[in-house]
Amino acid sequence: AKILVTGANGFVAVWVVRTLLERGYTVRGTVRSADKGEHLKKLFSSYGDKLELVVVEDITKEGAFDEVVKGVDAIEHTASPFHFNAEDPEELIGPAVNGTVGILKSAVKNGSSVKRVVVTSSCAALLEERDEPTVFTEKDWNEKAVAEVKEKGREARNVAKYRASKVLAEKAAWEYYNQNKASVNWEMSVLNPPFVFGPAIHEVTVPSALNTSAQVWCNNIAHPTSSGATNEFLATVGQEWIDVRDLAEAHALALEKEAAGDERIIVSSSVYKWQDFIDAANKVSPPPKLSQKLAVGNPGAGSANPNTVHMISFDTSKAKSILGLKYRTIDETTRDTLADFEARG
Ligand code: NDP
Repeated sequence: AKILVTGANGFVAVWVVRTLLERGYTVRGTVRSADKGEHLKKLFSSYGDKLELVVVEDITKEGAFDEVVKGVDAIEHTASPFHFNAEDPEELIGPAVNGTVGILKSAVKNGSSVKRVVVTSSCAALLEERDEPTVFTEKDWNEKAVAEVKEKGREARNVAKYRASKVLAEKAAWEYYNQNKASVNWEMSVLNPPFVFGPAIHEVTVPSALNTSAQVWCNNIAHPTSSGATNEFLATVGQEWIDVRDLAEAHALALEKEAAGDERIIVSSSVYKWQDFIDAANKVSPPPKLSQKLAVGNPGAGSANPNTVHMISFDTSKAKSILGLKYRTIDETTRDTLADFEARG
């Protein structure tokens, strides 16, 4: 079977491509320019023509995906901007919404062979900052981020701009899908992951070119001088996380499991505080050889401290029952991510 992966050069997507190739699928990946595909070609050269790369320059253009959906059996739509430095919220919202609705439109129009469309949404689309500890489920929507952006526009917090882009994109996707599902042969499945960590296999020429979530992890754990985080921050800040390899597996399972169709599914490993990853990092033996000393923080002050409160957590029972997803632990992900940093020098 042939699977279309949009934004194939991203942190999450390269692992999705790899997982699909390993499972025997043929992959058609989209990138924004031919040069962004070079690294992928090298990385997956052993798969020969099982990986095809096509350029979709502007995913917001009407009909951008009309050609690339032809002949594929399923679609993994991962392309969406994830950064915290947009001034105008539209920089994020435009590509998030139009890219997502655009791929669905193309699948309606030209996707006669398509059986499943998986959309990479985010827990950002459903979590909200509340005054008491809350367990969020697939029924929740982050209305607050959308309201903040509506009210404050460019003055909204950058995190709210990103979160709003994911809410609006996912809502638009469900709306369009629900209007059209009676007339198509495919079902949509939406994955909602929290912060994604783990080793990077996408093109990272310099550490500052890491994608947002891996960059934050790198700073807080391995580059404490760039992070400047206080011990209090490290012990109290953190929500939930998933290893990028588990998220890639979830993307494959969302195609393969019949029951994942027409579902919104939270995929998340566990709650964390940054201190938890720091404690795991300092246990790695032998210690990784890195350019800076690992952060130390206040050992044991994170989730290990019985007084620690997790304000935001997620109900992951659906991922368990529908996908049967298993998750890597903080220790495993930390060890493998540091090994990756060490290998990069
Ligand atoms: P990356 O930044 O590594 O990858 C993003 C991908 O989207 C790249 O291929 C990028 O292309 C493409 N993209 C970004 N902006 C645009 C645009 N304006 N037009 C077309 N393509 C664009 O991010 P991740 O791999 O971390 O994220 C992948 C998906 O996972 C996103 O949908 C994100 O919202 C979601 N997600 C990520 C989480 C995380 O913690 N990493 C958490 C939850 C959800 P290019 O390289 O050309 O810019």
